[in-house]
Amino acid sequence: MTALRILIAGAGIAGLAAKHALARRGIDADVVERDAVPRITGAGLYLPGNAVRALRDLGLGEQLGERSHPIHRQQLEDERGRVLAELPVSAIWGETGDCVAMRRADLHSLLLEAVGETQVRFGVAVREVDRDGTVTFGDGQQSRYDLVIGADGIHSAVRLYAFPEAEPRFLGQVTWRFLAPSAGLPEHTWTVMLGDRGRTFLIVPVGDGQVYCSAAMDSASPGGQPDDWRAVFDDFATGGLLDYAGEAHFAPLYEVNAFDRTHPRAVLIGDAAHACSPSMSQATAMAAEDAIVLAETLAEARGRETVPALLAAYRERRADRLRFVLAQNRRRDQARHMPAFVRRVVFRHFAEGIFRSNHKRLLARP
Ligand SMILES: Cc1cc2nc3c(=O)[nH]c(=O)nc-3n(C[C@H](O)[C@H](O)[C@H](O)COP(=O)(O)OP(=O)(O)OC[C@H]3O[C@@H](n4cnc5c(N)ncnc54)[C@H](O)[C@@H]3O)c2cc1C
Repeated sequence: MTALRILIAGAGIAGLAAKHALARRGIDADVVERDAVPRITGAGLYLPGNAVRALRDLGLGEQLGERSHPIHRQQLEDERGRVLAELPVSAIWGETGDCVAMRRADLHSLLLEAVGETQVRFGVAVREVDRDGTVTFGDGQQSRYDLVIGADGIHSAVRLYAFPEAEPRFLGQVTWRFLAPSAGLPEHTWTVMLGDRGRTFLIVPVGDGQVYCSAAMDSASPGGQPDDWRAVFDDFATGGLLDYAGEAHFAPLYEVNAFDRTHPRAVLIGDAAHACSPSMSQATAMAAEDAIVLAETLAEARGRETVPALLAAYRERRADRLRFVLAQNRRRDQARHMPAFVRRVVFRHFAEGIFRSNHKRLLARP
């Protein structure tokens, strides 16, 4: 097939993974990023077995091994730190892949290094995408592409123009994420404390003496930050970690359900297509899998397929899995509001079985 002109909007995790996956298959793509310089930031990411497998499949296993920290267990606790359940995650994911955690900045820079910084045009935002693939950039310049890959996050501009009806839905939850010292905390255990009013506090060791913490609570509006949000977690056994939350990154949580919409020239990947609550920790896994499957679909084209046919083939391969992940997330989110005594019983007796069934489909390759 004659080389397609491809544009990737967004050089976050999904966009860089897509650029790298395409490059590995000899397919060229322009990448534009709205930020003027690489914004290598964020707190932390927990990468379950299928995320690690996808990054390994992208040839990044060695770099990932050097910069990530192994996680063997997940521990569910109540807000006072009393253990409700322990999940042997490395055993559950088994041969799928190790479970690891890392600073988000480290994953972002790892991907940027793999792609090469000069391959990204920074300070260039996509403003509009027409049905014929004409892209209008922030400075008003236009260029026509055969395929536009929207990897531009939850508030995607590509989605706004290509699929205006697929608006993000606020999930009624807000989070604060930060890094803190790990002294005295378990080295390879991911811990979440669950309280009432949808309050959760997550602690994940990321190595180099640090833990990634994420506090979440119910909120009536996406901007709903209490004056002193840390006081909301006063009754949690956080052991002083909140003292390090001064620079916490605030984010309202949204769900986006736009992965199976049809457009002749545009496709969405990562959070732009299927953002969801972090309760399954699948954002990075799904972004990297999107990249791999899209690159495979384009590489395997035998020359006769049109771009809409290729995009249909991609959606066909991805839709069931993404639908499954969003549905599992919604189900798990509801569990946040179980009365404490019900949660205690359910988690004590059924946590591992629920976890295994929630993740079973993800053990297979996408
Ligand atoms: C700054 C930041 C910090 C984060 N911190 C955490 C964290 O600590 N823990 C966690 O679990 N998740 C965090 N996330 C979310 C996490 O990165 C994503 O859920 C996941 O990795 C999927 O990534 P993505 O590439 O789809 O989206 P994103 O990571 O949001 O990347 C989207 C990229 O597109 C760019 N962009 C947006 N609009 C345009 C446009 N119009 N034109 C061109 N480029 C555009 C953005 O600048 C960004 O670089 C963070 C995201 C960001 C952006």
